[in-house]
Amino acid sequence: MHSHLSHLQCTYCGETYAADELHTTCPKCGKVLFARYDLQAVRAHLDRDALACRPRGMWRWFEIMPVRDPANVVTLGEGDTPLLPAGRLGEHLGTERLWIKDEGLNPTGSFKARGLSAAVSKAKELGAKAIAIPSAGNAASALAAYGARAGLAVYQFMPQDVPEMMRKEAHQYGARTYLVKGLINDAGRLVREGARHKGWFDVSTLREPYRQEGKKTMGLELAQHFGWSLPDAIIYPTGGGTGIVGMWKAFDELEQLGWIGAKRPKMVVVQAEGCAPIVRAYQAGQRHAELFPDAHTIAPGIRVPAAIGDYLILDAVRSSGGTAIAVSDEEIARDMREMARLAGVFASPEGAATLSAYKKLRAEGFLSPDDVTVLFSCGSAFKNAELIQPPSLTVLDPNDPGWLNEVA
Ligand SMILES: *Cc1c(COP(=O)(O)O)cnc(C)c1O
Ligand SMILES: [Zn+2]
Repeated sequence: MHSHLSHLQCTYCGETYAADELHTTCPKCGKVLFARYDLQAVRAHLDRDALACRPRGMWRWFEIMPVRDPANVVTLGEGDTPLLPAGRLGEHLGTERLWIKDEGLNPTGSFKARGLSAAVSKAKELGAKAIAIPSAGNAASALAAYGARAGLAVYQFMPQDVPEMMRKEAHQYGARTYLVKGLINDAGRLVREGARHKGWFDVSTLREPYRQEGKKTMGLELAQHFGWSLPDAIIYPTGGGTGIVGMWKAFDELEQLGWIGAKRPKMVVVQAEGCAPIVRAYQAGQRHAELFPDAHTIAPGIRVPAAIGDYLILDAVRSSGGTAIAVSDEEIARDMREMARLAGVFASPEGAATLSAYKKLRAEGFLSPDDVTVLFSCGSAFKNAELIQPPSLTVLDPNDPGWLNEVA
């Protein structure tokens, strides 16, 4: 097995760079760099069905992953998460074609594991010693875990109100954890400044080329699951947009490999009403989003007021015939409960937002019951315990013979 990584290419100005040195954004224009592969060589050598026989996990796709030496792969078993038929939830919504990709089963409880496994592996391969990240919580947990495994120093910067479990987790992994007065974009400013002064490698969302390579494996898994075709729609809770950008890239690579055809899913962005920069830009017909003022929502992973990859997200949405939609915190809270009660999935608020969006798009007629639709349940609600009201439970006395009368 060897990686067919060939070079880096700027998604904005097209300039190319060597892949075997550390890069963040494009030195020329400051935009997002993509990893490029010699797909013709992969096409000639690799049988798509052979991949199914490899050990489970996202590193099965090694030929189109960026790490050269398998010994540099830092893995905790990420990827190959279940794609669940929505079952009773689907029945409730009058469809047999709704699916939930349960990314909460990844190491550290969210799909951030995929991106950070790829980024940490490549950074280690290229000799980085200290890595820094701004995070709403899950990315920090994932970087802390993979950094610990790789033996790299991890510095992380999170908003002050980051969920308690995420700060505990990061600290437990031994990361140097700091809280920032402000939101994730403010934390990002500190990381960039710190990186300049302290020599940290900055792995902010889409500001280095490899987190999206990890996230693209979600798209590869979908294609394989659906027998080398793609669903009709994908609903993705969008913060920095790594996942939507990564999956869109995956579909392009799969088509160049001759493994899928030209059909693409409608790529649907869901954001919270209190922080919806991409939705606003989509509605205004713009390719770049403006900073969303006073960003607030109960879903920390999508409380991202500005995204460097805005043009990549919006291009994917538009060229796929998708859309961008905002949902309220009340809808998100309602659908966290509904995903738990009807699908058995303990979904984070961001994941629940995809269900809220699905309901709205069905009501508007944008999606029909016949559309094969995948909801991304991106993280586990174990990380967001403070959002769940503690129930008041009846305490039974085992010495009280009347206890059965107290059980409904
Ligand atoms: C980071 C995160 C998101 C947003 O993902 P992007 O790919 O950065 O847009 C959504 N949900 C959860 C739980 C997250 O941690
Ligand atoms: Zn450029």
